[in-house]
Amino acid sequence: MLMKEERELIVEYGKKMSAARLSTGTSGNISIYDPEKGLMAISPSGIDYFSTAPEDVVIMTLDAGIVDGSKKPSSEWGLHAAFYKHKPHARAVVHTHSMYCTTFAVLGQPLRAVHYVIADTGAATVPCAPYRTFGTPELAEAAIEACGPGDAVLLGNHGLVVCGRDIRSAYSLACNMEYLAELQYRAMCIGQPNVLNDQQMAQAMERFKTYGQSGSKKAGY
Ligand code: 13P
Ligand code: ZN
Repeated sequence: MLMKEERELIVEYGKKMSAARLSTGTSGNISIYDPEKGLMAISPSGIDYFSTAPEDVVIMTLDAGIVDGSKKPSSEWGLHAAFYKHKPHARAVVHTHSMYCTTFAVLGQPLRAVHYVIADTGAATVPCAPYRTFGTPELAEAAIEACGPGDAVLLGNHGLVVCGRDIRSAYSLACNMEYLAELQYRAMCIGQPNVLNDQQMAQAMERFKTYGQSGSKKAGY
């Protein structure tokens, strides 16, 4: 089976994403990219994560060519492909409709440096892209344009997209962004959050480079 390991990881992380309520129903999607093959494995469109089997995962090129799979790929395959085309370090992309991230996306407001964990994105803000219809090239273009140098972007009136150097990092980043968004929301309910300044963020980003066990993958969820 082509990209067997990647298919199994997509099934595993889809269930995690659903169980953690980062996605409700069939919302959200996950992909893993193999740059040597030039192929991505992506979750199928509209199938419940607990009913998705490895053979339902679709293997495709970044330009819409289906290489293996009998199911329709995620409607957001173009959004995932845009990340792999524009972010050379990206090996996995996770898209969620998680509640607190989507709350700020509905307001068109970025996530701010109210907690140092935002440094995990490699930037001091998570910008919000303007609203575009789901599953369109226009959404992919707006997202990548708004994203800037970091690994996370909100999609106006829609949700969150993150990328990472593997599925574990990308999933962990999606969890961290939901935590950050909830914190920002809660702080704004009772006051005006302090936002970390550029120097504080630069220091946190530096620390993140060596966070976790040396030589191992960064700790995550
Ligand atoms: P798919 O089921 O096609 O992946 O779509 C879910 C989604 O979140 C669309 O933005
Ligand atoms: Zn979506």
